[in-house]
Amino acid sequence: MSTATLHIDLEAIATNWRSLASIAQVETAAVVKANGYGLDAGRVAQHLAKAGARQFFVAVAEEGVILRRALGAGPTISVFSGHMAGDAEAIKGANLTPMINSVDQMLRHVEALPGHPFGLQLDTGMNRLGMEPAEWSALRDIALAQNPTLIMSHLACADMPDHPMNEAQRTQFENMTQGLDIPRSLAATGGTLLGADYHYDLVRPGVGLYGGLPFAEARPVVTLDIPVIQTRDVAVGETVGYANAWRAQIPSKVATISAGYADGLIRAMGDKAQLFADGVAVPVIGRVSMDLITVDVTALPSTPASMQLLGPEQTVDDVADFAGTIGYEILTSLGGRYNRVYHI
Ligand SMILES: *Cc1c(COP(=O)(O)O)cnc(C)c1O
Repeated sequence: MSTATLHIDLEAIATNWRSLASIAQVETAAVVKANGYGLDAGRVAQHLAKAGARQFFVAVAEEGVILRRALGAGPTISVFSGHMAGDAEAIKGANLTPMINSVDQMLRHVEALPGHPFGLQLDTGMNRLGMEPAEWSALRDIALAQNPTLIMSHLACADMPDHPMNEAQRTQFENMTQGLDIPRSLAATGGTLLGADYHYDLVRPGVGLYGGLPFAEARPVVTLDIPVIQTRDVAVGETVGYANAWRAQIPSKVATISAGYADGLIRAMGDKAQLFADGVAVPVIGRVSMDLITVDVTALPSTPASMQLLGPEQTVDDVADFAGTIGYEILTSLGGRYNRVYHI
């Protein structure tokens, strides 16, 4: 078999959830949008439900429908994008809770599904989703009369603890929700780590569950082992890969491993990346191609059967750094071709 193996440690996800819950000391939901940050929303949510999670968030109603099938009745599944045209059947059928983002969505919701649970999303400065103060003032009394289950907003800079935006958004959230007797939520992973002022009644971490920053204490969740297909000697002056991007300066040994940008190992990481072979770091050389990456194994006494890109020695954020991106993108890009092994 030459496909790489992606090990996904569901129990590590549950441990990370428990750790964030014990930091927050309030109800702790789990964000499983984008198919559980690429790791399988159904499996992740089932495992977290066993660990005690009762609230899950997805980005769009279609994800909620799939998640409901995996979870069954019981847990709350909330939808960040709210109630979009055409969503009523999904929201009703799968008993989803849309986070209403605008007056239009509110009207659509009460017309299509009167009495169906919903939450409210406010914009406190990120200018992405949710109602701005003026829109909220106009809708407030009407919306509150319909008994929203949650009122939430999202922080733009929570991964930068000293950023003044955090306090500014928190103050705005306070102003917009003062005197309300509805559960409130402001914090994702970053906000959970900002302290009790940010926790309100419910925190909704995503990336920290999956072992990513800003939750530096997270247990690693994914391990990616990539088989070596072939090893060759390369003489001084010979080149390796597309565009002759690497040239041997000394007699070298090059291993070709079985994964590439089609597997989410984005091409931009290029030859800044390294892998681990039995604990020893080995550099990627030349261009990342669609199905293959070349590695300089000259320093190794022998070539191993496989090498590790992600694991205890190298996190999704380390790999993200190679490519100038973030751990979130590495996780959600992990390809469909891997042999995925789930550990409970
Ligand atoms: C993605 C998202 C989260 C989770 O964010 P993390 O940084 O992954 O913890 C929480 N709330 C909203 C609105 C989101 O879009």
